[in-house]
This record gives sequence, structure tokens and C-alpha cells, in this order.
Amino acid sequence: MKKGMNKLKDVLTGKILITNRLKFHALIGSIASVHVLLLVIFAVFKVWPLFIFNIFSVFTYAMCFWLMWGEREHYLMIYFITYAEVLLHSFAATICLGWKFGFAQYIIAIIPVCFYICYTLDIRRKKFTIATMSAVFSAVAFLACKFLSFFGDPLVEIDNIALELSLYVFNSLCAFVFLILFSLVFVFEMKLSSNQLRHQNAILDKLASTDPLTGLYNRRSMDIFLNQAVESASSFALIMCDIDNFKSVNDTYGHDFGDVVLKGIARITSDQVKGQGYVCRWGGEEILILINNASEESSFRIAENIRRNVANRVFELNDKWIHCSLTLGVALYDGKEPVEDTITRADYNLYCGKRNGKNAVVL
Ligand code: GH3
Ligand code: MG
Ligand code: MG
Repeated sequence: MKKGMNKLKDVLTGKILITNRLKFHALIGSIASVHVLLLVIFAVFKVWPLFIFNIFSVFTYAMCFWLMWGEREHYLMIYFITYAEVLLHSFAATICLGWKFGFAQYIIAIIPVCFYICYTLDIRRKKFTIATMSAVFSAVAFLACKFLSFFGDPLVEIDNIALELSLYVFNSLCAFVFLILFSLVFVFEMKLSSNQLRHQNAILDKLASTDPLTGLYNRRSMDIFLNQAVESASSFALIMCDIDNFKSVNDTYGHDFGDVVLKGIARITSDQVKGQGYVCRWGGEEILILINNASEESSFRIAENIRRNVANRVFELNDKWIHCSLTLGVALYDGKEPVEDTITRADYNLYCGKRNGKNAVVL
């Protein structure tokens, strides 16, 4: 019992994936248990036609378990067998004992289960047709039950009010437990899949907005940040960075070493800018930084910190180590020019820094 409750808790909290196998085992197991109980009740009260019917039902569900044995996954067949059995049994029990015993309630309780099972079954088309047809057929069977028991007498007369009431309560409880349990599982499954979707969207968002090598924002994201900065009419600065003599790093130490340097510099840049703006890989080994609410002093200070940290860092790969440097061009947005002009000014300052000996910040 405790093990079962723990398993249910794990299912509801998403620790256990609700597979079709688990779903069908739970469904068949619970319906089979109800039939075993009914089998005993009908034997005790000598309702032999229904006793025999329930032997047949228990065998039917044993066959359903066999259809899921090992690698077998005949879920659609099990669905049809289960649906037919529930309908037939409810019908037979109502005709046999009369409407008052409440067996017809199962015909209603099976409808949401049909939709839930069909929705989650791996059948590409017709899943809603199957569920809708099952529901329509249930409605017809329910009304047929009502008419037949209304106009005809029960086949087996049981003059036992206590049994009548007990069976009615038992059937109602079973029907409600089915409805509540399957509705709960359905809601949790929806919640689980929407969480998974949100998680996958976040991964896709990250993939679409960042550069895979450095983890910095890509140019597409930076365009968005630049537009936002212009629209918010805030003062901001742009810093264009370019690694000095990077071609010779690649040529001398190999492309992999170049990548290590690029990643290291990206890391230093992000750490220095943290919370003050955005860093993006603008081109091959060019990094563009947007500093929000910037003044000449603050943006120069950040650029200078980046330059110094890069110049002091030792980059290592496979027992080889080198020093690298960065040249940075800083430009403040003047509040009215197109942002492309600010980028051009930052680029021009960078060019001046390169021409005057590199490893410098030019404002
Ligand atoms: P300068 O000091 O004037 O900037 O000289 P430079 O050699 O750095 O010249 P430039 O900026 O034009 O060099 C760009 C080089 O960056 C060329 C290319 O091989 C290298 N590069 C671009 N992207 C990558 C990358 O993802 N990984 C590596 N390892 N190298 C890259
Ligand atoms: Mg370059
Ligand atoms: Mg360069």
C-alpha cells in the first residue's frame, strides 16, 4: 500500500514518466480489481449470471495483461477490449439487477478515460474520432440501459435494500475515483509537457541568441539590444574590441589555441561588463560591448579594465602559453544619430588604436 502510494506520488510529481505501459497497467489493474470484488459479491448473493460474466471479465483483463507482456504493446487493442467490456458489463448488470444498483455510472465514467487514453496513444490520426465515437456510443448505451430497465423488470430480483444501497455507493465511488484519478493524471501530464516545452524553448532561445564558441550574445541579439537602447533614449556607450595579431596566434599555435584565447577573452569581457550592459561576438574575433547608462569615464574605465585583464592573462593549451592583447575603441551614443554611426565611430577609434601600436583604449 505504502509502496503504491509512493509510486503515485512519484507519478504526480513527475519523477516517474507516465508511459503508456504504466498507464495501461494502472487502468487494467484497477478495473480487474473491481471485477474480482464484484465476483465475490455476486457469488455471495448468488447472482449467477453476473458471477459468470465477471469470471469472463477477469479472464479478459488477464488477456489484456498478456497483451502487454514483455515487449508487447497492443495498446489500441487493449483500449477497444476494455471499452467493450466496461460497456457490456454495465449494460448486462443494469438489465440483470435494475437501474437502482448504479452500474450505468461506469458508462459515463469511461468517457473522459477514452479521451485521455486516445489522446496519449501513439496513433497519428483518428485518435479523436475513436474517442468521440466511443463517447457517442456510450451515450447511446446509457440511454438504452435506462429505457430497457424502465420498461422491463430486472432479470434477477434481489429484495435486499442494504445490498442495493451498498452496490450503488460502491459503483458511484469507483466511477468517481476513476474520474478524479484520470483527470488528475491528465492535468499533471499537461503541466509536465508544458514545463518540458518551456525548458526546450529556453534552450532554443539560448541557441538562437548566443554564439556557440564563446557563449556571448550573437549579432542578431545585439541588434535587438541596440534598438532597445535607442528606443529607451538612455545614454549608452559602445566598445568595439579586436584581438591584436590574432592571425599570427592562429598561424603559430594553431586554430585550437586561437579558440582558447577567444573564449578566455570573451570570459574576461563578460566578467568586467556583468550587469552593466551586453557583450556580443560581433565578427570573427571582434567583440562589441554595449554599456547602459554610460558616461565617458565609466565606459573608458570598463574598457581599460578589460584591456588590462587581457594583457595580464596567460593563455595556455597543451603546455604552450602566450600573452595576448586587445585594442578597444569607445564611442558614446549622442542621442540622435543612427546607432550605425556610433558603431562606425567606435570602429574608427579601434582603428586609431591599432595604428598607434595596439593594446590600447581609444575614446
Ligand atoms: P590586428 O592586430 O590588426 O587585428 O591583426 P589580426 O591578425 O588580429 O587581424 P584580423 O583582426 O584581421 O584577424 C582576424 C583573424 O581572426 C582571422 C581569423 O583567422 C581569426 N579568427 C576569426 N574567427 C576565429 C575563430 O572563431 N577562431 C579562431 N581560432 N580564429 C578566428
Ligand atoms: Mg579583426
Ligand atoms: Mg585582430
